[in-house]
Formats: sequence, structure tokens, C-alpha cells
Amino acid sequence: MSDIIRLLPDSVANQIAAGEVVQRPASAVKELLENTVDAGATDIRLIIRDAGKLLIQVTDNGCGMSEGDARMCFERHATSKIQKADDLMAIRTLGFRGEALASIASIAQVELKTRRHEEEIGTCVVIEGTQFKGQTPVNCPAGTSISVKNLFFNVPARRNFLKSNTLELRYIVEEFFRVALVNPSLAFTFYNNDKVLYQLPVGNLKQRIANLFGASFTQRIIPVESHTALVNISGYIGKPEFARKTKGEQYFFTNGRYIRSPYLHHAVESAFRELIPDDAFPSYFLFMEVDPQHIDVNIHPTKTEINFQDIKTIYAILHAAVKQGIGKFTLTPVLDFESENALDIPVFPADQPVRQPQITINPDYNPFEKKTQPQTSFTFPQKSAIGGWKDFYSPLPSQDREEQQTPGEPPATGALHLEPTAGEEETPGMKGSQVRNSYIVTSTLSGIVIIDQQHAHERILYEKFLVEGQKEAASGQHQLMPQTITLSPGDARLLIEWTELFHRMGFDIGEFGRDSFVVRAIPASIDPGGLRSFIESILEALKNPGGDPKRDQAATLARSLARRLAIKRGKLLRQEEIDAIIESLFACRVPGLSPDGKPTMMVIPYDELNSKLKI
Ligand code: ADP
Ligand code: MG
Repeated sequence: MSDIIRLLPDSVANQIAAGEVVQRPASAVKELLENTVDAGATDIRLIIRDAGKLLIQVTDNGCGMSEGDARMCFERHATSKIQKADDLMAIRTLGFRGEALASIASIAQVELKTRRHEEEIGTCVVIEGTQFKGQTPVNCPAGTSISVKNLFFNVPARRNFLKSNTLELRYIVEEFFRVALVNPSLAFTFYNNDKVLYQLPVGNLKQRIANLFGASFTQRIIPVESHTALVNISGYIGKPEFARKTKGEQYFFTNGRYIRSPYLHHAVESAFRELIPDDAFPSYFLFMEVDPQHIDVNIHPTKTEINFQDIKTIYAILHAAVKQGIGKFTLTPVLDFESENALDIPVFPADQPVRQPQITINPDYNPFEKKTQPQTSFTFPQKSAIGGWKDFYSPLPSQDREEQQTPGEPPATGALHLEPTAGEEETPGMKGSQVRNSYIVTSTLSGIVIIDQQHAHERILYEKFLVEGQKEAASGQHQLMPQTITLSPGDARLLIEWTELFHRMGFDIGEFGRDSFVVRAIPASIDPGGLRSFIESILEALKNPGGDPKRDQAATLARSLARRLAIKRGKLLRQEEIDAIIESLFACRVPGLSPDGKPTMMVIPYDELNSKLKI
């Protein structure tokens, strides 16, 4: 019997490899753009026609190639970037497999013009479907220009498989964004069918984001920064209130490379958990610098997935960094509660220019921190530390706040009953007043505060339910004459599944035969009248957690209860209710935002007020 195993001809091997490397025009764009970055270019031009199906041309001012290299670069496994296996451990370039140009050249008509800076004459190589067509000297600028025509001209099956121009263009734009975002120090121009689609001058990351997503987008992002021995993290995250229903701008980069990592995505997303609706997605542009020794980029042919050695630690660092970023931001509406000089309302002498109003924040404040820290400048008091609203009014001499708290005093959060907290004899008069049955106006040492009663109460209830979720909710319960309700089989199953959670929120519900339940107690502010429809609507909300089933169930239930039970705009409030809202809100962990990430309040600093009023 004769042998039947044979080595594949290069042209076939390349076409097979092309199947992995070049699935669509966008993949060719990615490889060509990455090569320009690796070549040290600072000015890069991308030209496409017909969504890249007809032409992809990438021109750069990088190092260029010699005559020999210009031929060689189309060979399989031809690369200038690694020489020995050890080099794989220290990769700093985007490419290293030496597969891209060989693959592209096997499925398109390629023309390469290139010149090294130290040479006077450049070289032009033409290659079609792996077949070398010729090489000639040319006059061309220093750098490299590669044009890729008629992609998949010799693989009709693949060509037919391509999507509409609109969709293919969108893929290309996405690849372009990834390279452009991580290289704001390089200039890019992107022409689509002779029209300039993006013109990106050299700048910093924020400017690059503005150039790609529009100038107003930069109002929607907050910086994130964290430096540790293992990883340096920098970049921006979207403000919670701008989280969108569609998967938005979510970008991770490691060592200059766009990566995909569901695990790290979770680290970011869970940091937003209590702040945005369940069905919204936060934006992020996060850059991680890691020692190349500690990552392996070699596991995916298109290299968007990488292995980190210490992924768990990176997860924790990333999560903390994002939370800290959000924490600093959520504090900004509230500003300076500094007790020392806070009463020092600035007066502007007429002959001096008016100062820019200044906002002072405590950069170390982290609303997620559970423990109370010794406070030099004022941050929102944690529940355990709050002595009462009076603390906000008079700069107290350094007393131990813990001592002021009456033992047995109900916690300041969770004004379900909206009753004034006990032990407040010294409180100077009322704390705030209601305007248009919707806003609560009050003042602090640093400014006038306008609170949206609905968002604020949602936040208060939400945190109350979350806390109640961890202990017995005895205080907020309303005992009923036992009531029986019957639900649809689906709802009944759901309620059984969630019974434990309902219990923790203050319901006392027991199974009572087929799809029926007996309700003995409910959270105090629920109207026992519409009990069944209330429970049904809560179950309805739980049925649509918005995508991620891993979302914390307690938070979902707490959020929907809070939304449902919160005082609405337009409701006239009694003075005690107003005061209770103010006090409870400021005792919250995240007072500035509703559980859906909407602002609960606005602060007008006296500085600003005075300057507006020309005082
Ligand atoms: P890789 O990037 O993995 O090395 P490629 O097939 O993308 O493989 O490129 C092969 C080689 O061609 C590169 O290693 C590099 O030396 C050279 N090359 C490709 N594009 C450029 C460019 N724009 N400027 C200079 N050299 C280039
Ligand atoms: Mg490459």
C-alpha cells in the first residue's frame, strides 16, 4: 500500500489559516492596523471601499521594510517580532505569529509599497492568492502602504457569506475604535468611500474618547485609577445615570491590546450593581498594564482573549478601583461638609474679582466602605456614626459620636414609618420644607440642598430592605388577619422560590395548598387592601431581571419593593415625613443616587449662590 499522507502546499495551508485569521474585512483591518502600531507609526490612514470588500488600504509612516523583508513578510510564520520560544514570554508587540499577511495574501489581491527611512527608493510587491506577481522599485514616502483588493476573490463561499455593507462597516469601525482608543498618542484618519469618517488628532485618552463618541460624551465619564505591584489600572467608567439598555461602550485593554474577558467584565459590572437598573449596561474604557510574564496572549488566533496568571487578584483590584471611582463621583453633589471653616461664607469685596466657585470633595471617600473612619473632613456619616441631623448644623466640638447615640434608638435609615427619630430635643426647628409637593429643600453647612422626594425615598427604602434582608424585619411589620391569596401556577412557583427573600423583607407568607398562600404579616407601608395584585406585580418585576440571572436576588427584590413603595412626586408630606426623609437619606450608604442611578439631590454651594446673586 502506498503512503497517503502528504504535506499541504503553502497556498492551501495559508487559505486554511486565513479562515482563522481573516473571517471578514474587519479582521484584515485589525491586523493591518496592528502592524502599523508595531512598526512605530505615528500617523496612520485607513481607506476602505464597499465596507472593505472592494478595498482596504492602510498607510503608515512607520519603520518600513527592506526589499527582502517586503517579499518575506508574506511567508507563513514570517515575523520580525520573535526569534525564539522564550520571546513569547515577553511580547510587547500586537502581532507575533507571522500569520496575518500570509493569510491576507492568500485570499486577496495585495499590493505592498514600503520604504525604510534610511533608504531613498522603496519597493513594491504584488501578490494575488499567494501567487507572487512581481516586485519593482518605486518612489514612495517612508513607511508602508498595503492595499488589499477584492477580499475572498478566490473563495466565493466566504465572499457570499459576508454580511451587508452596513454590518461589515460596523465591524470595521469597531476594530478601528479598539486600536484608536488604546493609542491616543497616534493620529488616525479613516476614509470610507472617499469620505472622512474619523479624523483623530494626537491627544490624551479623554480627547480620543471625545473624538470618537462626541464631545458631550466626556461629561458622562469618570476616571478610574489604581496602581498596585501586580497591575496598573487606568481609564474611565460611565457615570451610573448614563448606563444604557443596550450594551454600550465596554472596552478592556491589556498592555496595549484590546481583550475580552467575561470574568473581568463581571468585576466591573458588579461594582455598579446597586447603582444602575438591572437591565442597563455600564460603559467602561479600562486599561490594565501587567508584566508580560504574567499573561499568556497565545490562546486565541485573533488574540482577544488572554490568560492572566493572577486573575482573581486582578478581579478584586479592578472591582475595588471601579467602586472607588464611582464613590468619588457620587459624593460630588454633596460637597464640603468640612466642619472647621464651613461657616466661613465667603464675602466678595467689590474690588476683587469673583472667584470661580469651588467644589471640594474628599477624594478618599468611599460610600461602599462599611466601617466608619476617623473623619478629618466630613463625609456622609455611616449609620452607626450618625448622631442625628443636628450634626450637620453645628460644628460639634470633637465628641465621641458613638456616645451621643441613644441605645435602642431605631436606626436612622429606613423611614418606613416616616416618624421623627427619637431623642432630638436639641434639633433647631424643622429641617427642611417641601416645595410643589415634590421637592424637599434644606440646607447644610456648605450649601442649599434640593432633594427629589421620590428618588430619595427609593434610595432610603432600598437600603432599608437590603439591611432588613440581613436580619429579622420585625420593626417594619404589619400584622394582618391572615389572608389567603391564590396565584397562577407560574407565580406560585416563583413565590415559593423567593419565599425566604420575602420573609427577610418583612413578609410572613406560608404555603397553603395548591397555588395558595396565607399571608400573616407584610411590611408596614403596604396597603393590605391590594395585597394580591401587589405581590403579583412584584413577582412580575422579578420575572424580568434584565439579562443577568446572576444579579443579586435580594437587590432585585429590594429595588422593586423600593420603587413600588416610595413616596411619589406630587404627594404632600407632613413635617415629620420631610424631616425623616432628610435624615434617613443622609444616613444612606449612597445618598446621592437612587437605586436606579438617578440623582436624589442637587446642592447649590453658597459660594455659587453668592456669586450668582452678586453678594
Ligand atoms: P506579525 O505581525 O505577527 O509579525 P504579520 O504577518 O502581521 O505578522 O507581519 C509580518 C511581518 O511583516 C512583521 O513581523 C513585520 O516585520 C512586517 N510588517 C508588517 N506590516 C508592517 C508595517 N506596516 N510596517 C513595517 N513592517 C511591517
Ligand atoms: Mg501582524
